[in-house]
Amino acid sequence: MSRFANIIVDISHEKLDKTFQYIVPDEFQDILEVGMLVKIPFGPRKIKGYVIELTDVAEYDITKLKPIAEVVKDGISIESRLIALAAWIKKNYGGTFNQALKTVIPVKQKQNHIIKKTLILATDEVYAREQLAIFERKHYTAKARLLKALIEFKKIDQIEATRKLNVSTAVIRNLEENGLLKIQQETTYRNPVKNISNKGYDIILNDMQKQVVDTISPSIDKLEHKTYLLKGVTGSGKTEVYMELIDKVIKSGKQAIVLIPEIALTYQTVMRFYNRFRDLVSVMNSKLSPGERYDQFERAKNGEISIMIGPRSALFTPFNNLGIIIIDEEHESSYKNETIPKYHTREVAIYRAQKENAVVVLGSATPSIDSYYKTKSGEYELVELNQRIAKKPLPTCEIVDLREELKQGNKSILSRKLQQKIEDRLQKKQQIILFINRRGLAGFVSCRACGEVIKCPHCDVSLSQHRNGKLMCHYCGYTIPMPKVCPSCSSKYIAGFRAGTQKIEELVKRRFPQARVLRMDFDTTRKKDSYEQIISSFSKQEADILIGTQMIVKGHDFSNVTLVGVLAADLSLNTSDFRGAERTFQLLTQAAGRAGRGKELGEVIIQTYEPDHYAVNLACQQNYVDFYEKEISYRRLMRYPPIWNMLVIMCSSKNEDIANASSQDITNELHKKIDNPREVQIIGPADAVISKINDTYRKVIYIRTEEYSKLVEFKDYIENYVRDNKDFSRTIVQFDFNPISGF
Ligand code: ADP
Ligand code: ZN
Ligand code: ZN
Repeated sequence: MSRFANIIVDISHEKLDKTFQYIVPDEFQDILEVGMLVKIPFGPRKIKGYVIELTDVAEYDITKLKPIAEVVKDGISIESRLIALAAWIKKNYGGTFNQALKTVIPVKQKQNHIIKKTLILATDEVYAREQLAIFERKHYTAKARLLKALIEFKKIDQIEATRKLNVSTAVIRNLEENGLLKIQQETTYRNPVKNISNKGYDIILNDMQKQVVDTISPSIDKLEHKTYLLKGVTGSGKTEVYMELIDKVIKSGKQAIVLIPEIALTYQTVMRFYNRFRDLVSVMNSKLSPGERYDQFERAKNGEISIMIGPRSALFTPFNNLGIIIIDEEHESSYKNETIPKYHTREVAIYRAQKENAVVVLGSATPSIDSYYKTKSGEYELVELNQRIAKKPLPTCEIVDLREELKQGNKSILSRKLQQKIEDRLQKKQQIILFINRRGLAGFVSCRACGEVIKCPHCDVSLSQHRNGKLMCHYCGYTIPMPKVCPSCSSKYIAGFRAGTQKIEELVKRRFPQARVLRMDFDTTRKKDSYEQIISSFSKQEADILIGTQMIVKGHDFSNVTLVGVLAADLSLNTSDFRGAERTFQLLTQAAGRAGRGKELGEVIIQTYEPDHYAVNLACQQNYVDFYEKEISYRRLMRYPPIWNMLVIMCSSKNEDIANASSQDITNELHKKIDNPREVQIIGPADAVISKINDTYRKVIYIRTEEYSKLVEFKDYIENYVRDNKDFSRTIVQFDFNPISGF
């Protein structure tokens, strides 16, 4: 029994980001719970709000408090656990309570279920035939039709009755009232996966896989939270390990969440889970209708399913007894939410698992530097699968120096060696993947003669080309005019690097007119199912060459591919953020992993202007550990995450002067808060990488310090400062902790 309810109103606006207190009337005393959606008087109107706390402590003058008007019955009541999770998200990533709540309850409004109605003959046949004779004599043709069908089939689906027999609901009701039929109602939940084939399950784990399962299992048995990082080359059987662990979890009466990046969430992957766990599995993805999503969450809450597979939002599946969270391809940048609150799925998953005593398994062939670093400090435990299942050797790899190509007079984007190899595979009727790394943001500038990339002398990130022709650092604002010749070798072949997949497709078709070419990129996969179609067409060998962006490197098994060409390995190296090398290493390693999945040995050609870069070199050698060591020492030197933590504050405004003034104002405030400049670094304000979107100017300030909690303090301070300050009425201030994409 609590006298008051603290309520957050359902309006996403900074100024309303606080709780309001209302009286809990007697009539609601027994039913009201934390998380329920209610209606409350608010000014002259009645609006909706979430109960986030029940209390006996009045925070305002009691005589001024109003009672809750109504409890909305069809709102999903979020459990207090999820509300606590929302509170944690708000605290650690910024944004409003509402935004955090909406993150943990992706489906707010109850959708109508599909109710399946079946008409059943309710009398014995003799009586029914007597009635039928009467109907026919009186020429009640519709009634006669329906009754005749019921006598024949005993049961008819209502929809079929109305459509095929062409009878109205009035006729059905009349027969029901006369006791001739009964209507049976059944709620059916929409199931997003259809055509389940039953292949059965017959895989026996090998010794390495068993060892991994045996390492992790005790945590599951002891109901003890722990995070494991499963590092295993592609095809080493990680998914089978996940399924074995899940099997243990559900046998102990608990549930499992499996997170997979949307792009890798293919029919084949889902089917593997279905084949083993059947109806216990459900899937979420962005293509589901709100109704389907709602149903999946209902089924999870009701205990009808035990396994939820999906991209980041599946993390918030309302399981009551969560046992394990698996994050596959944990290094993927899509695990970072890029809208507010900008949470990282890995961090939120671990927090949820801690609170619910669940185990977390992070899996990847190329773990994020962040996660691998945590295995060193003992925060996560490292487990490994170092061999492909069939002991297939990894492909051989060769680096081609594009600077040499230019020297030899080849200005094409295809090196002579790659052209030769393509020719060879076309003759052998083997398939080829050409991967164009388009991960880069704004165009960096490099020299095609010597490979020199123009970098900021203060930040060690590449400068980006702006429309006004100037080159700029997005971390500190350092700006220089676009040089006419290369500062290092004086060549005039210096330019911003851009090459689209479409252009490459044209070029390849012209060079190899006999080849059948498929292209996969953002443009060709916009339509529903087009992604699956391209993949399936290529695996049926309806094309010889597949050209694509990072989309094609995601875990597909093409057994006839024996050559992978990486056209411009450096593109992601020279993004204007500190994760460029990490991203490049991951992409190149994954791309190389596409070759040689079948009988023939695979071969990889990496074309690059920076053949000596450790990310390119070590990816070619598939040497993760050495890459990690190099990368972490760079991060240590530069005090980038995960060594230190980093907070980006972005100020945006339609008015450039206001954007400048408010970002400067915030910077000044931050400086005032610092007692020891050696422990906290403030950089900026500077233009964001995309300095203007939709006529909104964007300025960024970077703060780096060792303790994450200190950054949270800065965020809280600035949030408050901005809220009470009229000068910020036309500025939007956003926070991003340890950003994944550059600003
Ligand atoms: P990963 O998730 O690491 O890429 P998978 O679990 O997808 O690896 O395994 C790769 C292939 O090997 C799959 O086709 C899988 O069915 C098969 N596989 C995995 N483990 C075994 C095993 N113990 N015995 C036989 N086949 C296996
Ligand atoms: Zn040069
Ligand atoms: Zn700089």
